Amino acid sequence: ASTWANVPQGPPDAILGITEAFNADSFNQKINLGVGAYRDDKGKPHLLPSVQKAEKLIFDSRLFKEYAGITGIPAFTKAAAVLAYGKDSSALDRLAITQSISGTGALRIGGAFLERHYPGAKKIYIPNPSWANHAAVFKDSGLEVAKYSYYNKDTIGLDFEGLVADIKAAPQGSIFMFHACAHNPTGVDPTPEQWKEIEAAVKAQGHYAFFDMAYQGFASGDIHKDAFAVRHFVEQGHNIALAQSFAKNMGLYGERIGAFSIVCADAAEAKRVDSQIKILVRPLYSNPPIHGARIAEKVLNTPELYDAWLLEVKDMADRIITMRALLKDNLEKLGSKHDWSHITSQIGMFAYTGLTPAEMDQLAKEHSVYATKDGRISVAGITTANVGRLAEAIFQVKG
Ligand code: PMP
Repeated sequence: ASTWANVPQGPPDAILGITEAFNADSFNQKINLGVGAYRDDKGKPHLLPSVQKAEKLIFDSRLFKEYAGITGIPAFTKAAAVLAYGKDSSALDRLAITQSISGTGALRIGGAFLERHYPGAKKIYIPNPSWANHAAVFKDSGLEVAKYSYYNKDTIGLDFEGLVADIKAAPQGSIFMFHACAHNPTGVDPTPEQWKEIEAAVKAQGHYAFFDMAYQGFASGDIHKDAFAVRHFVEQGHNIALAQSFAKNMGLYGERIGAFSIVCADAAEAKRVDSQIKILVRPLYSNPPIHGARIAEKVLNTPELYDAWLLEVKDMADRIITMRALLKDNLEKLGSKHDWSHITSQIGMFAYTGLTPAEMDQLAKEHSVYATKDGRISVAGITTANVGRLAEAIFQVKG
């Protein structure tokens, strides 16, 4: 028999299944709301002008393709830290930071670091629901995964009481993972006031906070506003861990560029933590790829490109915010009796519609509208040209 005769067939990826069904549909007005990537108003992928200019500068300078250090390109990690924590943050002088294989790689390094060095229970609490990959990443890092209350399906909003109660109920010194902004899949974020209460509860329990910030700037259009939770926790004395991604806010998806950082007590501790991050990364992939880091570094460190980029991120965020409003307007114009205010109060790439798996099936089968069964739609897939038909489809399914 073959060596691998007993390897069982694994289940297909949920998103890939949607893409396959979408591709197989011959209707010319089919709509794909499954993809987690930005699309312009023509439904096309988007290359940011600031990124194109940075690439041209990099190309023209004919850089060598030498290895980066284990933790990546310092000009990049320094700029990524300033972007996340703020230029005047006390964290910057006591930060251990490494370049990572986008946000996923950052989470994985974080999971591995916690598994190896966290002094308390090796268990991480993630929101219910959370990005589908979180549980897998942390399990494969060797952590136990538990869930805390997050989403209230009756209000299609935040279960704030449940969330705070779960923080308080978890054993002292537990690890809590938070989505810094634009919670995926729900699009439901705590308000700044709620973040303050969450911070107080986390502090009271002596928990450790690990933030996943995959959408800085992409949520509200303002990089500072989107970093509120991260910066607030640091200001309140939490030595957080942070995963950053430049996939969405720079449109660098396939370049796989991100960063993982740990705020330490002081520079000496940061140096020790940094040495251990290197010991983790070296046997994983030796050192990270350089091209995406060069692009992000160029955009962040060149004042004209940085200013242009801020506007470009805002444009992307604004287009999404506009599509949310248009979808809600269209549903109301059709006479829908449902309250669709969650569509516009949610934030980021995704909207949680509140549609059931059966209704999502019906959307696909009868209206050629494809998205995940949990009722999540990628707002980035909505355009001025398809929003009318989308609203009609939802109205026919949901009323
Ligand atoms: N965290 C969250 C919440 C995400 O939505 C994503 C992307 N879908 C990621 C992390 C990681 O993405 P990437 O590895 O492409 O940066």
